[in-house]
Amino acid sequence: MRVYFYMPKFAIECHLKNLLATSLQILLPQRCVLCDTLIRDTAWFPAPLCETCASRLEEIVGQRCASCGRALISEERFCMECRETACEDLRIMPVFMYRGAVAVLMHHYKVRERRSLATYFAFKLAPLIISVCATSGLQPCDVSLVPIPSRPEKLRAGKRDLVAALAIALSAWGFKSIQVLARHSNSVQQKTLARTDRFTNALQAYYLASSAGIPQKIILLDDVVTTGATLRACADILRGAGAEVLAAAVIAAD
Ligand SMILES: [Zn+2]
Ligand SMILES: [Zn+2]
Repeated sequence: MRVYFYMPKFAIECHLKNLLATSLQILLPQRCVLCDTLIRDTAWFPAPLCETCASRLEEIVGQRCASCGRALISEERFCMECRETACEDLRIMPVFMYRGAVAVLMHHYKVRERRSLATYFAFKLAPLIISVCATSGLQPCDVSLVPIPSRPEKLRAGKRDLVAALAIALSAWGFKSIQVLARHSNSVQQKTLARTDRFTNALQAYYLASSAGIPQKIILLDDVVTTGATLRACADILRGAGAEVLAAAVIAAD
């Protein structure tokens, strides 16, 4: 009896990438961004993080707050912080808590622009996004990732758009991305504002880059979430153009 094995395209790609990674590790040995030890076998490619440091990252597991996506401890539905202002209009799904080793790692990504970390973050975000798709009965190819745009003045200063880089890294898992949002120059930075003013400010800071070609089903993508005001405002803008925003996938919750 002949047995056929089905290997999805991305599994073949991962296998080839791991083969390439092994060859590269011999030729150009990589060091961990957090502890500087030499990196050997890893499950992702390229891997600027050792297994020990990866295990020190505070990942959000178990029940999540329905408003902000942070882990629930003994609370029900909403975390203590969200209890007063909780809203369930957008499912926010951060992978990590922004503290300890995660904060250091994010510094390497955002400030020191270690772009290869995008592959690691995509490796952690992909299962989360796939689970969001699955709960809506969708495949990764049915949704479009929409990255939250960087500040234009930052890009003009030569900085990289690291959320867009994350979207590109996620294409290895079959996700397509489209930049339909844009951000006004010199918009007021959210971190300088009180929580209550952030939503209105974000509504004024972002706009549709083009009303043509807005995908029907969208998952927003961002690097860090604090109050969720930016994500909620961007979701409102896209819904106003007729899109269904399923969730927002984020690397870390501050
Ligand atoms: Zn390490
Ligand atoms: Zn919460």
